[in-house]
Amino acid sequence: MTSQQAVPRPASRRRWAPSSWSIRTVPARALVFVLLVEAATVALLVLDAVHWRAPTSDQLVVTGLLVLVAAAHTELSLNAERLRRRIAETRFVNMTSVWTFAAALLLPPLPATAVVAGVYLHLYLRVSREAGVPPHRHLFSTATMVLAVHAAAGVRLLAPDRAGTAFSPHDAGVVLGALLAFTLVNTLLIVSVLRLARPGSRFLRILLGGEILLELATLSLGGLVAVIVGNTTPWLVLLAILPLLVLEQTTLVRQLEAQADTDAKTGLLNPVAWRRRTRQMLERSRRTGRATAVLILDLDHFKAVNDRHGHLAGDDVLQAVARVLTEEVRDHDLAGRFGGEEFVVALGGLRPDDVVSGRACDVAERIRRRVGSLAVDTRTAGRVSALSVSVGVAASPDHGDDVDALLAAADTALYEAKHGGRNRIRVRPAEHRAEPAETATPPLGLRFGT
Ligand code: GH3
Ligand code: MG
Ligand code: MG
Repeated sequence: MTSQQAVPRPASRRRWAPSSWSIRTVPARALVFVLLVEAATVALLVLDAVHWRAPTSDQLVVTGLLVLVAAAHTELSLNAERLRRRIAETRFVNMTSVWTFAAALLLPPLPATAVVAGVYLHLYLRVSREAGVPPHRHLFSTATMVLAVHAAAGVRLLAPDRAGTAFSPHDAGVVLGALLAFTLVNTLLIVSVLRLARPGSRFLRILLGGEILLELATLSLGGLVAVIVGNTTPWLVLLAILPLLVLEQTTLVRQLEAQADTDAKTGLLNPVAWRRRTRQMLERSRRTGRATAVLILDLDHFKAVNDRHGHLAGDDVLQAVARVLTEEVRDHDLAGRFGGEEFVVALGGLRPDDVVSGRACDVAERIRRRVGSLAVDTRTAGRVSALSVSVGVAASPDHGDDVDALLAAADTALYEAKHGGRNRIRVRPAEHRAEPAETATPPLGLRFGT
């Protein structure tokens, strides 16, 4: 396989893109979790079958109606959904939960599960397969949806019996409770498997990356659909399709914008996005009286890594380093890849005292140590270790107040780190400082490591 043909195994967020989720790359503990969830789903369905009561004709009509309207919705949004699936990061919010949640509110568990099965089979054939989502992942999503439907049904059981499918004002609490149970089960199961598939990832980041608000909006629409079907002319549910299509389009635009900012190989920011966002960070710092530091990191003798282990293994190393950067900086800091094996980090919101550079060097030192202890399991060349990185550090206001001045100072410091023997951190003297007499000199020529 040549490097052109290879699908890069993405780091950080992009590693969860559906197309990358081949079963061979799923770690054993995530696989065990997936199997447990699927076994629990089968067990619940067996229980349902044991307590089987034939559905009423109303329930059969609602089951058929929801499957049909969901299919129409999927067909109308085919292109947008395929694209959204393909570029999805972290977890993908599936908007057909409008129909499956409505089913959970209106139907007993088995007919509601039939709606889930119908909707997900159609989705697989028309969207997921086209977008390269592996079948095992689609099956897991289906299982989590069946469990979520049962969680919502569990909440409905707590409520007094309702006549038929109609809702009364007393049912408001049931709808809200069912919505929370549905979201909780679905979200927890999916976030857990993502976390198991990628240990060390931040729970909250996965959750927020998964657009929990979008999910809640979708389910709220599902609640309204259930009330319309239960209380008025069922065919009025068609009115829900247009708002859904608009929601999908705006979500797609947002996802495309995020993708345009991303370095495809590592999931970090690309140079244009990093510069733009660092400029904004510096403006914010100026307004709030805070300081910003910039690190430029360049892997040492990376050409030798490629020569010895191959380009694909080199790519795996780059992705592992990107993960280190993401994990070692705070959420509002900015990590980017400038190209090749060169990375940049902007640390924002720092207290503007005389040790800004020193504190930035602390972060750089943590990164340097972690890169030094990396043992990367590569796709093609086994385990690669003995890596090192050189880092140049610059901070505002010592080395300037704009992106270019900070990058230039950090780059010169990096050059010194390379010429000083590599695997070390350097920071330049505060040559460009606006008020040189006011503050003590930052730590000069800081040198860590060997
Ligand atoms: P130094 O310590 O001076 O930085 O040495 P170096 O070998 O890291 O520096 P140099 O800039 O000469 O080499 C960088 C290498 O990075 C050359 C190129 O093959 C490799 N490279 C650039 N982009 C990529 C990439 O996307 N993937 C892989 N695997 N290698 C890349
Ligand atoms: Mg290098
Ligand atoms: Mg280089």
